[in-house]
Amino acid sequence: MKKIYLSIVATAVILSCGQAMAEKGGRHHDEHINERSAKNVIFMVPDGMGLSNVTATRIFLNGPNGDRLSFEKLPTIGYQSTHSADSTVTDSAAAASAWAAGEKFNNGEISCHSEDTFCIESPATILELAKQAGKATGLVATSTITHATPASFGAHVNSRKCETEIGRQYIEENSIDVLLGGGIGSNSTSSSYNCAQYPGQDRDAVITNAQAQGYTYVTTADEMNSIATDDAGLKVLGLFNAGGLTPEYLRADGITEPRLPEMTKTALDILEDNQAGFFLMVEGSQIDWASHANDPDYQLGEMIAFDESVQEVLAWIDAEPDRRHNTLLIVAADHETGGHAINGPYGTLSNEDELIEAAWTGTDHTATDTVVWSQGPGSHELGRAMDNTDLFTVMEDSIE
Ligand SMILES: [Zn+2]
Repeated sequence: MKKIYLSIVATAVILSCGQAMAEKGGRHHDEHINERSAKNVIFMVPDGMGLSNVTATRIFLNGPNGDRLSFEKLPTIGYQSTHSADSTVTDSAAAASAWAAGEKFNNGEISCHSEDTFCIESPATILELAKQAGKATGLVATSTITHATPASFGAHVNSRKCETEIGRQYIEENSIDVLLGGGIGSNSTSSSYNCAQYPGQDRDAVITNAQAQGYTYVTTADEMNSIATDDAGLKVLGLFNAGGLTPEYLRADGITEPRLPEMTKTALDILEDNQAGFFLMVEGSQIDWASHANDPDYQLGEMIAFDESVQEVLAWIDAEPDRRHNTLLIVAADHETGGHAINGPYGTLSNEDELIEAAWTGTDHTATDTVVWSQGPGSHELGRAMDNTDLFTVMEDSIE
């Protein structure tokens, strides 16, 4: 990938920006689309991404006066509040559960209202509703595939730390057709996140059970790319690292892990074969981790890979006229992380030596609202100030 030139001075960050000022402008809105329902729903999550991260990435790639990132060109733009049921500042579990199930949850809960260590109410998720409607389903992430954001769409557990149980539910409860990401995490045994109520399986058993149920199991990009994606009824479990995938800025020659854009394309190639359509969630999981680390190299690498994944989705949508009219695409961050801001420089802009000076206010999530970009059937409801639970309502209405 493109080399990222950065240096950190105290909390301030200086980076050189790119050169080109390509064409600007957005993708056009089609009024007639809103009268249709969505055959396909593609939900893309740049985890922890604030608007300032978008600005920094755009300046780095294209200059202050340069072309927009791909998702910025989507025709409908709104923003959402992100608080959870028990906290002004959300975590990824509560935030993704709000999208997935349309209700506020406590931090740490995975589409489950819990008491002690048990789920007392587990409302159906948009992935499950799509499945009930005959659609294929998929989850793609650069974290463990059982991490909080994908988990909230495909499982119900009291704690995000019960990752092996989340993996079991993906396979045994929801038969999710496409699962591509890092590994399957473990069930925590710590006293604050005890998963002892979910006995009986380890990670290897989840994989063995998946294979017994007909899943094709792959562990490298080459294996993933050699899958015959037009086989009817194909189910794929792709686990490419024991933990999260290797960050973009640390990828070395010869690495066997796929990148997020490749996984996204593979998921689409498989899911498109379902006649009733599909629900797909794609997460750029480590945009959040880069901000926790206040690391601009890490941040830009993950942002660029996420935007390339959006480009894959847009190329897929634009490949056939029908897809533009029957596919709801939403790009939304679950929360902002780190309080990133661009403080400078002041002065002349738009030359090749321009610099960005940026800083963070902290290393954890913030409560600032996040942007929601969208297109396709139902998206006319997303161009306003919203709560994160509203996104569920729009997705649910669109697939009815
Ligand atoms: Zn985080």
